[in-house]
Amino acid sequence: MRDKTIDWKSIPKIVLHEHLDGNLRPQTLLELCLARGVALPADTPDALQHWIHTQANSGSLERYVSSFALTVAAMSSLEACERVAFEAMLDCTADGALLIELRMAPLLLEPWGLTGDEAVQAMIAGLNRGSAATGVPAGLIVCGMRTDSPADVIRSAELATRFAGKGVIGFDLAGAERGFAATLHAKAIAIAREAGLGLTLHAGESDVGERVMEAIELKATRIGHGVHITRGQGATERMRKAREAGVHFEVCPTSNVHTGACPSVAEHALIEMEQAGLNWSIQADNRLISVITQGGEFQAVQEQTTLGLAQIMQGQLRAAQASFLPAAQRDQAIEHISAWCKAQGIAINT
Ligand SMILES: [Zn+2]
Repeated sequence: MRDKTIDWKSIPKIVLHEHLDGNLRPQTLLELCLARGVALPADTPDALQHWIHTQANSGSLERYVSSFALTVAAMSSLEACERVAFEAMLDCTADGALLIELRMAPLLLEPWGLTGDEAVQAMIAGLNRGSAATGVPAGLIVCGMRTDSPADVIRSAELATRFAGKGVIGFDLAGAERGFAATLHAKAIAIAREAGLGLTLHAGESDVGERVMEAIELKATRIGHGVHITRGQGATERMRKAREAGVHFEVCPTSNVHTGACPSVAEHALIEMEQAGLNWSIQADNRLISVITQGGEFQAVQEQTTLGLAQIMQGQLRAAQASFLPAAQRDQAIEHISAWCKAQGIAINT
């Protein structure tokens, strides 16, 4: 496949790491905020998107996540939760997704009068409507906010377990990382794990690589970002341990540039992660907040780094293997990616 003929949308993809509250369509964000009387910094979808992008591209995870106050306010009704989940399914599918895992912290909606259970139910309903419309399997990952009290993160984990096997497939810790190690929430993590949920933890995104080691000790099988594993003293040893543990890194290049985790896509830690033989895939994180698509992320990596489409697709195959969705759905996606690569003459190991 020659570069100039690549149709990035048509490439099969596995969505493992995207936040529902970072994925709203600008038009939907505008409509939902207007309907609820939420004050907005702009009055057209384009201007709103521009404002969010400026906030996001700040070099700080703390500032990056500040845009979420607006998106969470927009999602503060059950209808909105359902709609946002449904539209995210359509958008991911239009971008080539074969398996879709979307996530959110439902307790963020409590101050708006929604219970966590209601919010999760509404999001699952949106995913189910999306699956029915597209034929693409989907599941919800419940996030606990690491900046919340351990008691609240335990409540998040217990909420996730109530929906295990009924639409919720995993548990995650999200939010500002520095000063909020995953070990603070070891009990919540154990509750989710013992209920059979998949465990992915944001780690080593804005904080040091050692946070990835802690996540592995807490038995996470997937790591959100993890880019700092490549930096600082002991990096080689940490990467060796991560390779041996077989954890999958959900790497989101543009988001990492926006939050200051990596200086640019061209100098992204992904290159060292590949050289060290780590198990990674390219993910989008937040389509709205970073004004990107997963296909656009593939393109940016292919054009700006030494990594090519074969390595990117090998990553998507690994992502399918690492998915928390049922084995039969994973196998189908693996077969689809393998067949697509073969048809395109892209050499990957299957
Ligand atoms: Zn994330």
